[in-house]
Amino acid sequence: MKKQIAILGSTGSIGTQALEVIAEHPDLYEVYVLTANNQVDLLAEQARKFHPEAVVIANKDKYARLKEALSDLPIKVYAGEDALCQVVESGPIDIVLTAMVGYAGLRPTINAIKAGKAIALANKETLVVAGELINALAAEYHTPILPVDSEHSAIFQCLEPGNPVSKVILTASGGPFRTFTREQLQTVTKEQALKHPNWSMGAKITIDSASMMNKGFEVIEARWLFGMRPEQIEVVVHPQSVIHSMVEFADGAVKAQLGVPDMRLPIQYAFSYPVRESLSGERLDFVKCHTLTFEAPDTERFRNLALAYEALHQGGNMPCIINAANEVVVASFLQDRISFLGMSDVIEQAMSKVPFIKEPTYADYVATDAETRRIAAELVINAPSFSKSK
Ligand code: NAD
Ligand code: MG
Repeated sequence: MKKQIAILGSTGSIGTQALEVIAEHPDLYEVYVLTANNQVDLLAEQARKFHPEAVVIANKDKYARLKEALSDLPIKVYAGEDALCQVVESGPIDIVLTAMVGYAGLRPTINAIKAGKAIALANKETLVVAGELINALAAEYHTPILPVDSEHSAIFQCLEPGNPVSKVILTASGGPFRTFTREQLQTVTKEQALKHPNWSMGAKITIDSASMMNKGFEVIEARWLFGMRPEQIEVVVHPQSVIHSMVEFADGAVKAQLGVPDMRLPIQYAFSYPVRESLSGERLDFVKCHTLTFEAPDTERFRNLALAYEALHQGGNMPCIINAANEVVVASFLQDRISFLGMSDVIEQAMSKVPFIKEPTYADYVATDAETRRIAAELVINAPSFSKSK
């Protein structure tokens, strides 16, 4: 039986690579649903090629154009956030790949879990915002959550039942500004930040990588995926991105997963688990392989990493606050409305301004997200020192 796959965010970096994996294994996987936010033409093209049962465009204004583009095919066409949240519940779907970006991934992921679908989780923001709730639901509905993030896939590939773990070690490339001084960081532009040395990804996660918020989020993600305490999660900078992450076991043994940086592997492993399938692509050549180097992360220059640990320690709705504030500042940075370092300032201020809730419900997360966005947007506008020329 072919596995039926729903891809939330099929037009993005992860989504398109997931379709490459499916195209390489037409005997194993079939596309059941494709969704996108805005990109009608690419979504229609993907639907023509993969013949899903249904497609959803989140932006309702684009519905007519999508419907028209697919009018000669027996594909159901829907639009809007509610449709996107409902479509993941469709009976035949086996796996939902959450490859959309940001907080918007939370509600459809919750629905998919409640419908008993396995989650191939790329949308780390869902676990950052509401990891405890997601874990409780996954346990209640017996739904597996399989990591797609390369670091967490690496850790997942190293874990063995009955092998107690002492800590996990997340590797970080350090991003394009790894060697920049604080002074240099003050004036970096979005164009510089969008040039990641090792990975080609969507704009938001590329900025998060440059600011190390991505690694901070991955620490929180590891907390919930693997049940680690914060002090059991270490970050080491490894600029070559050959070791994708490591696990240290109770006896001191360390296991690592290595490979050429290629997101298709963790995507495919989430689809094929517990088995491995063949995958085309470049192989690691140890003789040609560069030197592998490691250094400690610098949380003075990259304060976001320290803020994420702080949010994890505080718990409650604090990670939700840090995520919402980060979404606001990253969007502002991409519009040249805030400086690179200004982003951490706003996040830190939002963390102290938004009311703390120790045991948030789903409704509390929704309210916290909205309130944080409001406060962070004000902070971006009002702080004169956050101008681009700071
Ligand atoms: P992207 O910007 O390239 O693509 C995002 C996709 O989500 C697009 O298809 C877009 O149409 C859709 N989308 C965006 N906002 C939406 C909304 N509000 N409602 C519905 N659909 C929406 O992003 P990406 O780089 O593919 O990243 C996707 C997710 O995967 C993110 O959570 C990211 O952190 C995670 N991730 C990405 C990579 C990577 O290599 N790109 C690696 C690890 C984790
Ligand atoms: Mg990652």
